[in-house]
Amino acid sequence: MAIISNRLTKEQYEQNFSDIHPPFENKTAAQVEANRCLFCYDAPCTKSCPTSINIPKFIKQISSDNVKGSAHTIFISNIMGAGCSKVCPVEKLCEGACVYNLLEEEPIPIARLQRYSTEMAMENNWQLFDRKPSNGKKVAIVGAGPAGLSCAHVLSREGVDVTIYEKESKGGGLMTYGIAAYKVTPQFCEDEVKYILSLGGIEIKYNQELGKNVSVADLQKNYDAVYLGIGVGVARKLDIPGEELEGVVDAISFIYDLRSKEYRDIPVGDKVAVIGLGMTAIDAATQAKRLGAKEVTIVYRRTEMEKPCTQVELDIAKLDGCGIIWLAAPKEVKGSNGKVTQLICSIMKPGEPDASGRRSPVDTGETFALEVDMIIKAAGQTPFEELVNGNQIKNSKGKIVIDNNCATNIKGVFAGGDAVNGGKEVVDAVQAGKDGAKAILGYLKLINN
Ligand code: SF4
Repeated sequence: MAIISNRLTKEQYEQNFSDIHPPFENKTAAQVEANRCLFCYDAPCTKSCPTSINIPKFIKQISSDNVKGSAHTIFISNIMGAGCSKVCPVEKLCEGACVYNLLEEEPIPIARLQRYSTEMAMENNWQLFDRKPSNGKKVAIVGAGPAGLSCAHVLSREGVDVTIYEKESKGGGLMTYGIAAYKVTPQFCEDEVKYILSLGGIEIKYNQELGKNVSVADLQKNYDAVYLGIGVGVARKLDIPGEELEGVVDAISFIYDLRSKEYRDIPVGDKVAVIGLGMTAIDAATQAKRLGAKEVTIVYRRTEMEKPCTQVELDIAKLDGCGIIWLAAPKEVKGSNGKVTQLICSIMKPGEPDASGRRSPVDTGETFALEVDMIIKAAGQTPFEELVNGNQIKNSKGKIVIDNNCATNIKGVFAGGDAVNGGKEVVDAVQAGKDGAKAILGYLKLINN
């Protein structure tokens, strides 16, 4: 057993990481699906979209061949509508709410239709928004992820000059660095950021990290308002013996490397255990398999009933050949010569339901050993507690506290997205960015709110 890179041929890597959701073949195929839509008056699909995209309207526009209008309908609510069409868990959002589910028929493929219009807009660089003339107001945004970009786009449309401070060398945040490459390619992420910036009035300063190159106090001095969209990023520790052994990695870093290096340069073990069952765990497990790991086993401490990932995500992992051990919690990592050889797990059983009705797992006292040479920890992320404390921002265990108007405890400083909620979907961050922009426009007296 060994952790090695370059396990597959160039062709195999290409095939394993190609787009999992291919687009419509042509206009007719898109229109056939668009014409199935019942254009429901109360549109449960729209109500289930965190950004409230007018779904029946954009679908109607596709069916009447008004693709430009359709893209505008999407982007006015969600400027990252193209990326969201690839990464949103639509089975629990818009498509899950489509009335066709009640008729026990296939729901309208809303994400695929959304992708059809938005990708065409990006490919043709359609400028669908006008920027108002500059009003002299300047806003600094920290983080060029979905919340920051969405906030920037709304502000810039209103004539505000926006500067984004981004710690990485590329924009897109979680979309660029934290999602499986077969869902959204690094090239697509770059194109999407470029398309958002093509509105004008938004400058991104890369490799600028809060707490290192820039502080909230500096930004406050130099700008009329500040928006913090810094996300969450620190992987939660397991706090078990042996966690420091060579071969134990965290899923955030593993996926980050996958997104920023060549696939052939990413080392992966023969036998890999992935701890956790959220979206990041699934993305880590499936990609470990697609990098050439012989065996990937997901270890989850609860039952399938309590799984945090969607059924669609679980099915992807199963189809990729990943095994799952339910009711197993990591207890100890064992190794030899400093390298991982075994993961010892406690066998759990479902306990009493908690306040939310979710049953907490209880240790049975029995254990089993899994022979592994690599362990990927995906047991959640913790917020940047030190960073927010260092900048005197009121927080709850690192999660920034905001009022109903997205404002922090510091005057003129607003926040939103994962940094506030601890980590939700990309589409939730986009909505948070819009809310933040509205609050800032009110604060700057550019709108009445
Ligand atoms: Fe169309 Fe389904 Fe939405 Fe109704 S619920 S408007 S059928 S996509």
